[in-house]
Amino acid sequence: MKVIKIGGGCLKGKKNIGHILELIGKRGRGNIFVVSALNGVTDILIDGMSKALEDEGNIPGIISRLKSKHVLIARHLISADKFYKKFVRDLSRTLSEIERLYYGLNFTRELTPRMRDVISSFGERFTVELLVSALRCRGVKATYRMPHKVGLLTDGKFGDATVNLRKTRRNLQTHLGPLLKEKMILFIPGFFGVSEEGDITTFGRGGSDYSAAVLAGAMQADILEIWKDVPGYLSADPKFVPEAQLIPILSYDEAAELSYFGAKILHPRTVEPLRTAKLNIAIKNTINPDAPGSLITPGSPRSKNFIKSVAHDTDIGILKVHSSGVGARPGVLALVAGQLTESGINIKSVVTSQTCISLLLELKDLESGHLALKSLRPRPFRRLEKIEDMSLISIVGEGIVKGKGIAARCFTAVAGCNVNVEMISFGPSRVALYFLVRNRDLKNAVSAIHSTFFSVPTHQ
Ligand code: ASP
Ligand code: MG
Repeated sequence: MKVIKIGGGCLKGKKNIGHILELIGKRGRGNIFVVSALNGVTDILIDGMSKALEDEGNIPGIISRLKSKHVLIARHLISADKFYKKFVRDLSRTLSEIERLYYGLNFTRELTPRMRDVISSFGERFTVELLVSALRCRGVKATYRMPHKVGLLTDGKFGDATVNLRKTRRNLQTHLGPLLKEKMILFIPGFFGVSEEGDITTFGRGGSDYSAAVLAGAMQADILEIWKDVPGYLSADPKFVPEAQLIPILSYDEAAELSYFGAKILHPRTVEPLRTAKLNIAIKNTINPDAPGSLITPGSPRSKNFIKSVAHDTDIGILKVHSSGVGARPGVLALVAGQLTESGINIKSVVTSQTCISLLLELKDLESGHLALKSLRPRPFRRLEKIEDMSLISIVGEGIVKGKGIAARCFTAVAGCNVNVEMISFGPSRVALYFLVRNRDLKNAVSAIHSTFFSVPTHQ
């Protein structure tokens, strides 16, 4: 049995979705599909919340956008009147539930984390209803189960929930096992679960990958397949490096590092539920489903030159906290990190020296992070600096920390194109080396490193 996750990126346009439906019909019997919202739908739901707060007059427009997005696809894929009408009826019922939630928001003037999670979870629910109706209309046996009805249990942390794997395994085996025996095509919406208190809790943006991994681990699947609109992991971003190569095989840790800072192919926590079962993950391209793609395994053969990929992330904002002796004075880091966490800001990474703590944030959080730290009393720092025009480069590969001369080769390449390296982190991760460069130097640095390590194709 396979668990197959279908990403929102490929659930786009009636032609593509029609093609995916055919693939499901051909390869789906007895397997579990975990699906994302149709492309753009989660964004509409989330933007809708601030629009609804602003003015209730915005609400009908949001609802009709959601409706027309799904109806347009349904009209194309569900040809029989009976099935089409039922789909539209169910859709309208769910939409009026969402409409009530938006009016509630406007009335109470308050967007709670609970409300945010409930509203953003609806996209995935629409997708399962759409795909199941379309398959049934073609005479294919398909059904779905909602995560909150089958006990996909979380720790209750809104927006960033973690699954209780032990209890969830038991619940899912009870509820889903019999359906699989009947060789059904079974759909589960990704992205959310339910807390012990009965609240819908999401796993953060892109969290359907994590849902799929939970299902694969809990149901002891043979493999987790992730269907996407890209061929797999590449040795660099092809926009910068046109000769970038597909990475045929990589380890859990390499994939996790690349998910965090580099190519956003997977949700960073996808490998967690798979570690004990040691399941493999195959990244498949829906446009070319028989191509090998990338395979992620618990360990992976070390590549000859150690490096699998040169990734980069431009969504980086840096807060530099200058204070003498931060390395020796206890508590400064805890104070600063505590203040950011309280303001709901996620710290992507930290680099410290004796005189400065550098906090890497998402760009969107830089301004509010800066304000949050400025308001700390008494001030635990001398000066606060905010930097927005930098990007992070990471070179990733098993054994990179042990391989001799890798850092030297990397920085020689960067220096060779006259690029200044601003901050380096090497060692905290066993499989990655990180550093920062100015945005204007990013492209040159990435392609120089790539040609140093990949000029001969040795990473097979
Ligand atoms: N639809 C959700 C998002 O856009 C979850 C996912 O697609 O994985 O973040
Ligand atoms: Mg995704």
